[in-house]
Amino acid sequence: MTTLSPEEDAVSRGWKALSTLLVTAGRHKDSVPKEGSFVNPPLHRGSTVIYPSVAAMRDTEGLQYEHHTLYGAMGSPNQHELEKVVALIEGGSHSQVVSSGLTACTLPLLTFLSAGDHCLLIDSIYGPTKRFSEKVMKKFDVEVSYYPADISVAEIEKYLQPNTKVIFTESPGSHTFEIQDISALSKLAHQHHIKLFLDNTWGIGVFKPFEHGVDVSVQALTKYANGHSDLVLGAITVNNDADWHLLRDTAIALGEVGGSDACWLTLRGLRTLGARLEKQSISALTIAQWLQEQPEIERVLHPALPSCYGHEIWKRDFSGASSVFTIVFKPSITSQQVIDMIETLEFFAIGASWGGYESLVLLTDGEIYRNFPNKLLTGSACRLQIGLEDPQDIINDLHNAFTAIWRS
Ligand SMILES: *Cc1c(COP(=O)(O)O)cnc(C)c1O
Repeated sequence: MTTLSPEEDAVSRGWKALSTLLVTAGRHKDSVPKEGSFVNPPLHRGSTVIYPSVAAMRDTEGLQYEHHTLYGAMGSPNQHELEKVVALIEGGSHSQVVSSGLTACTLPLLTFLSAGDHCLLIDSIYGPTKRFSEKVMKKFDVEVSYYPADISVAEIEKYLQPNTKVIFTESPGSHTFEIQDISALSKLAHQHHIKLFLDNTWGIGVFKPFEHGVDVSVQALTKYANGHSDLVLGAITVNNDADWHLLRDTAIALGEVGGSDACWLTLRGLRTLGARLEKQSISALTIAQWLQEQPEIERVLHPALPSCYGHEIWKRDFSGASSVFTIVFKPSITSQQVIDMIETLEFFAIGASWGGYESLVLLTDGEIYRNFPNKLLTGSACRLQIGLEDPQDIINDLHNAFTAIWRS
């Protein structure tokens, strides 16, 4: 067995610890039927659920909170199997699977906010969550405002209003990867009777939201959970019955579901999440460290590196890392040079999203909508998602592209 450096251990430790849970959750040899069965559960497609008698149908009343299949638009057996596993990974009491990661952001806003309330979002929140808040929540008379991603919790308090009901944060933040002190933020929120929402997509498996006082945790299962870039799906996890009933009622009221095929594939993807991320997180760190040494790079925004805002909190609160991060170039490198470099790369496809088995690159200049100036983005920047390729091939690819565009 190769020995890991302390840095490699810090990004991959959590994945090792989680691997057995990921493989065994919801599967036990005692539940295998006498006549035998396949390893993976069957795929169930359906709308109507039929019953042998009126009495049997009436007996299902009230079971909508019990992950019971009542109607296709309220979830399928595949969705409910996945919900139980996601709740275990997130460490909450119940999860609701929904049609996309974006819906996982919007459904809790619709659930926990009413006209006249105020919602405070972190500036580095996933962009489409901002778009929804601006375009939809404001229409229903919910006030929306933002706080900078690089201020202390004491400073965040100044952004609260008497009618603030939700703080929606993301840690690390989209594109700029600022890590937040979630424990301190949840204390502040609860002192003011505010619910704290966390978009925990980057931290899946390696950040335990409910141990830090989060009320609602959001996952884009599209990303590492599914891991193969072939579907979109999301999940919302809460940690008590009252919140669960409100969330579930809203999902049913909207007819919000995750399709059976997507749920089946995501549950299959989750079985290998530990193995994929153990490798991808170490590869990403190796590549991030190499990039940090290159003369054209101003800084690398990866939570496991000291140049990332909140690195010390990452060390304290996270048991690992995922494999997406941002590089910021020196001001002497032009945006056009970065575009040319990106287009020269062999192993990086150009694309948004992340979390698959393949490497991706995304130019982020001006693509991210911010309400406050960001001190970290001092030059042209791009986000890298590192896949399962050999990290040395990726480093060679980056080296060749740098050489072709500005080193020759
Ligand atoms: C991708 C992403 C989402 C949305 O997921 P989709 O399934 O693509 O809608 C939400 N939050 C974060 C942090 C994401 O990266």
